[in-house]
Amino acid sequence: MSNSETLFNEAKTLLPGGVSSPVRAIKPYPFYVKSAKGAVLTTVEDTNLVDCCLGYGPLLLGHANSVIKAAISSQLDNGWLYGTPTELEIDLAKRICGDHPSMDMLRFVSTGTEATMAALRLARGFTGKTDIVKVEGGFHGAHDAVLIAAGSGATTHGTPDSAGVLPDFAAHTRQVPYNDPEALEELLSKNDNIAAFIIEPVMGNIGPILPDDGYLKAVREITAAHDVLLIFDEVITGYRLGIGGAQVKFDIRPDLTTLGKIAGGGLPIGVFGGRREILEMISPAGPVYNAGTFNANPATMAAGIAMNKYLHMHEDIYAKLDERTRQIEEAVSSKASGTFVRMGSMFKYFFRSSAPRNYTEAKQCDTDAFRRFWEKALSAGVFLPPSQFETNFLSTAHGESEMTKLVQVYSQC
Ligand SMILES: *Cc1c(COP(=O)(O)O)cnc(C)c1O
Repeated sequence: MSNSETLFNEAKTLLPGGVSSPVRAIKPYPFYVKSAKGAVLTTVEDTNLVDCCLGYGPLLLGHANSVIKAAISSQLDNGWLYGTPTELEIDLAKRICGDHPSMDMLRFVSTGTEATMAALRLARGFTGKTDIVKVEGGFHGAHDAVLIAAGSGATTHGTPDSAGVLPDFAAHTRQVPYNDPEALEELLSKNDNIAAFIIEPVMGNIGPILPDDGYLKAVREITAAHDVLLIFDEVITGYRLGIGGAQVKFDIRPDLTTLGKIAGGGLPIGVFGGRREILEMISPAGPVYNAGTFNANPATMAAGIAMNKYLHMHEDIYAKLDERTRQIEEAVSSKASGTFVRMGSMFKYFFRSSAPRNYTEAKQCDTDAFRRFWEKALSAGVFLPPSQFETNFLSTAHGESEMTKLVQVYSQC
């Protein structure tokens, strides 16, 4: 039988840091999974863990969901890559545009990273302007324009947050704090070279951090007044907060939207879409280049369609999931020193006396206390994302027994 520690030692000789994505490098070594079903991961040591990480978001219906699996399997019988258009991509595009009033057209890519990279290029191509603004601590994938160090503030030009990102390029990315419309207004009023403002409407990668009342409306008004495109990065919130994501929940129409994660039913996907006049700038309709061997691949399209159909037939799952995170919230002791934050099926316990409103406040959390809690949860059989700054998720597969375990774990924080 394999064992996680041995596997990790071998992996370190082949994969940098032993892993294929940095967040997976749990110390001292990650557990290796051999299978997953419903809300439960099974490790190579045959340990069962209630999964609140869910692949970092895509698995709204849990692991190996039978409906999604059937759709993928029947597509596999017909092949899984053609290099030609398919009817499937029309079907899924129609569904996604129908779910998002801000989207007339879209392009399928393979990851959320590609989606935000392409959306930012498109914003530059459409407006003819050079710079972009992001939210401090906002995560939009692993490409150069968004790997910008935190703490550079609204008035300065961005500096790289990774070796290999050119300072010249990073300087074209500015940052403002979340929940601070004044900082955005000030930045945009002093610069007429801003193409777009990209924002996770509900911050998921250091959160959830929730928008103050009126914040997203203010962001829409300020960007419109300055002729700056508003990009909602809904790679997490899309189909997570409900059908139509944050833009429907908060009734905002961004100019461009990026999706990923749930939209592909758990297979790799990215989507960027928006107003027709903007999307028609994309190649081959227009001069902004985008292409991909795996764009709109048939297996992902089939999984995405199955997910979409399921959600439209069972829209009540969102209220049920919200009720389940409320149950966890209630379990947190009133004497606890931290703060429980939730929205729908996104939740987190922050080791801080009040809910963080932005990146600076999130960074004040007691990460040592988080680490102790995380380890306690794991030994009780619950896998939470291994960072104070990654949102937890629930799926429809989290049933009574999993909820009992979660309530027990959270009653001890
Ligand atoms: C996960 C994520 C991305 C990147 O998506 P990948 O598919 O991992 O490239 C981009 N934006 C947000 C908000 C995300 O949560």
